[in-house]
Amino acid sequence: MAAMVIAESIRSSLGPKGMDKMLVDGFGDVTISNDGATILDEMDVQHPAAKMMVEVAKTQDDEVGDGTTTAVVLAAELLSKAQVLMDKDVHPTVIVDGYQIASEKALEFMRKIATKVNPTDKVMLKKIAKVALASKLVAEHKDFVADLAVKAVLHVAEKAGTNYKVDLDDIKVEKKPGGSLTDTALIQGVVLDKEVVHPGMPRRVENARIALLNCPFEVEKTEFDAKLNVKTPDQMKGFLDEEEKILRGMVETVVSSGANVVICEKGIDDMAQHFMAKKNVLAVRRVKESDMEKLAKATGATILTQLEDLKASDLGRANLVEERKVSDDKMTFVEGCKNPKAVSILVRGGTERVVDEAERAIHDALCVVRDVVLEPQVVAGGGAPEAEVARMLRSYAQRLSGKEQLAVQAYADGLEIIPLTLAENAGMDPINSLMEVRSKHQSKLKSVGIDPFKGKVSDLAKLEVYEPLSVKVQALKSAGEAAAMILRIDDIIAASKSKEAPKGPEKSAKEEGEGES
Ligand code: ADP
Ligand code: MG
Repeated sequence: MAAMVIAESIRSSLGPKGMDKMLVDGFGDVTISNDGATILDEMDVQHPAAKMMVEVAKTQDDEVGDGTTTAVVLAAELLSKAQVLMDKDVHPTVIVDGYQIASEKALEFMRKIATKVNPTDKVMLKKIAKVALASKLVAEHKDFVADLAVKAVLHVAEKAGTNYKVDLDDIKVEKKPGGSLTDTALIQGVVLDKEVVHPGMPRRVENARIALLNCPFEVEKTEFDAKLNVKTPDQMKGFLDEEEKILRGMVETVVSSGANVVICEKGIDDMAQHFMAKKNVLAVRRVKESDMEKLAKATGATILTQLEDLKASDLGRANLVEERKVSDDKMTFVEGCKNPKAVSILVRGGTERVVDEAERAIHDALCVVRDVVLEPQVVAGGGAPEAEVARMLRSYAQRLSGKEQLAVQAYADGLEIIPLTLAENAGMDPINSLMEVRSKHQSKLKSVGIDPFKGKVSDLAKLEVYEPLSVKVQALKSAGEAAAMILRIDDIIAASKSKEAPKGPEKSAKEEGEGES
């Protein structure tokens, strides 16, 4: 029951005509999203079985980045179909076994109906990105965003043998509210949400030689407390002079290595800033660790933990380092890097919430494009592949005997929740639409599904609505596994206090677990 309730709460957000959810937390902060993984992640879920559904969405998001709502809705429907069988006195173990067979076959059938594509076919990739974006807040600008996502992924894709390798960590998504969504831009380098530390420093350095430091650019403080008696003003001056000398020495190390840009993960002393400004060195401080790694990759620099070690060979290269004003803030752009396999997307949009949701949408688009570049196979969208696999499973089930057959049929029926929900969310008559889809599939029209925009049953391949095969495969896998795991549980027992007591109020599982199935 708990698992099904979770799915019910996000069901209405499936598909391009799905609704959004407004999530309000204890402090009154609002998140508006259509993304299954985000909604479930923000939701305050207590019940242990419900938590498993949240995990389904999380796995789906981590593995392929899209299809999170699909996976959760599917898992819940498999449970609900199992419930019907259990009411008819079919034992859960039999259902689990039947589902196991069905799941394996479904994966096989899904792979069979997929079409091979060219992994660098920009037109195809763009279509796929557009489908992933269709259900998001940014749908209005999906053409523009899809284009950006395809360019970004192809930029960082590296050929490895006959296949491609894509690491989405090479694409940095930075957001800044302000402007409009169409101001979102792809930058061939790394964008830092930091300004240049000192007003006397240059704002623009061409042919940058960049030193990356993760040690503080300051005079080290002693670790113990010491008391020094200063008797004369000269002694005091001696101290200050010495400090200045050390800082000058540090700046000298930087300059003599040939660096004209210093990017530091920690702080930079005021006086050091002043000396660097005099030497025309541009410096940025308190940069995130993840950004440092991207910078290292993009510019070819080595991140140093000790300034004394700095050598010319440790420096990274970029054509341009420049501070620019974006809205009210200043950001530092590192462009034209030595290794162009690192890019940034600077997301803009009217308000913070729009920017946040746009970032999530871009994440989905980047993921689906990556999925296809990695595994260049696609299936039609709109619930067509689910309907087709359901048909194939039903005809396969004929060969099985007794209760197993029932379970496989139940699984097939469960798959049809996807076209059914898409129709429902588009304001169509769900049952009639599903029957129409079914009959079309009977007469060998494999890519017929729901077209939520026109509100009718159509051939999605003709409408060029495609999705990555890997998204569908992962959804089947995670939904099937979660359903099987929940079905095997017949009781929820409060465990004795765990060794590492969790934070927050402790409740026994039994208390919350009323009404488990
Ligand atoms: P998920 O979190 O599962 O990705 P979405 O809200 O993104 O959920 O909806 C995905 C579903 O919407 C898929 O089944 C997909 O085929 C369908 N879909 C997306 N765009 C279209 C379209 N233009 N026509 C028909 N179906 C579409
Ligand atoms: Mg999606």
